[in-house]
Amino acid sequence: MKQSISVDEAREIILGAVSPMGSEKVPLQEGLGRVLAETVSAPWDVPPLDNSAMDGYAVKAADVAAATRQSAVRLAVLEDIPAGRLPTRAVKTGTASRIMTGAALPAGADAVVRVEDTEKSGGEVLVLVPVEPGLNIRRAGEDVTAGQKVIEAGTPLTAAALGMLASLGRAAIEVTQRPRVAILSTGDELVDVDGDRSGGKIIASNTYSLSAQAREAGAVPLTLPIAPDRPEIIEARFREAMHADVILSSGGVSVGDFDFVKDVLRRLGSEMKFWRVAMKPGHPLAFGILGGKPVFGLPGNPVSCMVSFEQFVRPALLKMMGHHDLFRPVVRARLREALRQKPGRRTFVRAVVSRDGDSLSVASTGSQSSGVLLSMLRANGLIIFPEDRAELPEGAEVEVQIIDPAFWSQSGPGA
Ligand code: AMP
Ligand code: MG
Repeated sequence: MKQSISVDEAREIILGAVSPMGSEKVPLQEGLGRVLAETVSAPWDVPPLDNSAMDGYAVKAADVAAATRQSAVRLAVLEDIPAGRLPTRAVKTGTASRIMTGAALPAGADAVVRVEDTEKSGGEVLVLVPVEPGLNIRRAGEDVTAGQKVIEAGTPLTAAALGMLASLGRAAIEVTQRPRVAILSTGDELVDVDGDRSGGKIIASNTYSLSAQAREAGAVPLTLPIAPDRPEIIEARFREAMHADVILSSGGVSVGDFDFVKDVLRRLGSEMKFWRVAMKPGHPLAFGILGGKPVFGLPGNPVSCMVSFEQFVRPALLKMMGHHDLFRPVVRARLREALRQKPGRRTFVRAVVSRDGDSLSVASTGSQSSGVLLSMLRANGLIIFPEDRAELPEGAEVEVQIIDPAFWSQSGPGA
């Protein structure tokens, strides 16, 4: 096995090794963000009938073609048609029916005069303006027509999609399953968030950041108890983890004396594809298939762990969930400071992207040590520093992955 592979090779291997999961039926209310696994066609017209877009009077346009405020046209009112009740009488020459927004248009009528353009006079109405045939009428099937393909399989469901599916009578929908992601922190020095920190123990924050990253991607995190650096315990945890669809561990994948994750994965018969990726942060990174499930041995350093998840685990989870667009948006921004590195590894520089009018600029968040979680906390993007470059000069246009969806929000509403 090659010592260290490139980020692109690693991504290709991982995405080649995972495939979309099967589908499941879920209630419509649970569909937000899920990927539709069926193509939905309209079983009926929406709206089902021609109906009024205004409160007013359903008329024959020809009757009122000459109406003006000075010479109003007088029509006999046949009935009131509220929304939700069907008309009982056809509109004939010289008559009209009072109609509410959304109510079905009566037979014989071909336009609606707004109530503001009329005056009521006993059982009659005075029409003060002319109308064209079709005015203020919403046609049956104007939104969708029976048989029309409305949403294709593979579409991630938005609020509008759920509204549409509701209007097509779909109380339940077929969507791609979400992977359950087992998350395991390994290390003798680790305790849980409320654990005993005496003796210099540190909190296994990776369990929490990874679990949130998995959830944000739309997957279902399952956290396992921390495993100390004891091969038999790590092995037992991995066996437990094999009930999930994806396995993530953090720590214990470097070359230290207590890095047992590799040995355990070998012993369990996992088919390992690589152990190292030429990137920074996050050099050690194991990927393989264990009992048919993708397994990622992520580095223990909190920043390396999160950045490795971003680059490799997130796209894999999205692919498993049926998504076609697997990557964070990449923007081009002007660098506000020069950046340097020793070439050979692709660096993902934690950075803050800001808007300067219509253009974007970017600067690093400061210390890029892989233990400094604050650098992730403050970042909304990751500058892609190519492996073959030693310097990115100030003012250069660089590519930045936007990792914080809040980047797309702003304080003002726009014009
Ligand atoms: P390792 O990869 O096991 O050598 O760990 C590298 C560094 O990451 C060490 O400083 C660990 O203490 C730290 N670390 C490992 N696992 C975690 C975790 N789950 N949460 C926070 N820090 C961790
Ligand atoms: Mg360790």
